[in-house]
Amino acid sequence: MKFIADNMLGKLAKYLRMAGYDTIYPPLRNSDNQLELDIPDRILLTRNSRYIRQHNPLQYLLIKPNHFREQLAFVIKERDLEINPERFFCRCLKCNEPVIPVSKKEVQDIVPEKSWQSHDTFFRCPVCGKIYWQGSHTRRMLSTLKNILSER
Ligand SMILES: [Zn+2]
Repeated sequence: MKFIADNMLGKLAKYLRMAGYDTIYPPLRNSDNQLELDIPDRILLTRNSRYIRQHNPLQYLLIKPNHFREQLAFVIKERDLEINPERFFCRCLKCNEPVIPVSKKEVQDIVPEKSWQSHDTFFRCPVCGKIYWQGSHTRRMLSTLKNILSER
């Protein structure tokens, strides 16, 4: 299941990527300077009911909650998303690009010493070069995601 999030749903998009779901954000503009929101094989996540009425997109989910935590819980429930911790680090949070494993040695000078010592698995985004590892800066996001799941 793939998504495209409209330009009001950046935080939700980031969390969906965190959970391993391919999510386009921000949407691109076409030659007429219109947002390209209706993309085959992608579910449009939007808060804009007028857009839905006017454009009648193929697949969409109208996001009613205001807060991103409730938005995420809403998407998980409505689309019955599988949230698997093994997928949590498979996608760059910034670029949406699948990350690739890198050897521990390669990142020795990039990752903080303490994190490098305590982890064996690292990933790099092929687009922006960002390095990811279990329990890195995403720890807070992870606990937010787990909290949302436990509230279901
Ligand atoms: Zn990246």
